[in-house]
Amino acid sequence: MIRQNPVMRICISCRKTYDRKNLIKITKDHKQGILFQNGMGRSAYICKSKKCYSDSKIKKKLQKALKTSLETEFIDIFEKEITSYNDYPNKGI
Ligand SMILES: [Zn+2]
Repeated sequence: MIRQNPVMRICISCRKTYDRKNLIKITKDHKQGILFQNGMGRSAYICKSKKCYSDSKIKKKLQKALKTSLETEFIDIFEKEITSYNDYPNKGI
């Protein structure tokens, strides 16, 4: 039997490879700015481990990955987003 390969992406913080489903996608959308899990444009992925998303350097890493500067409020929104995903892991699966 051939197993379908999952889409793998690298977490920008720990540099480990994960299944896309286990990562949060942050996109710098051309029109709407920074979006989570949606949008078209340059994207970065981060895993759901607290060590990664609460990393003090995460904002810098994201800015580098997305080639943009992020608002100070971004980190607050970002943490809220990630925490809400952790509250409902893999809904419907
Ligand atoms: Zn990570």
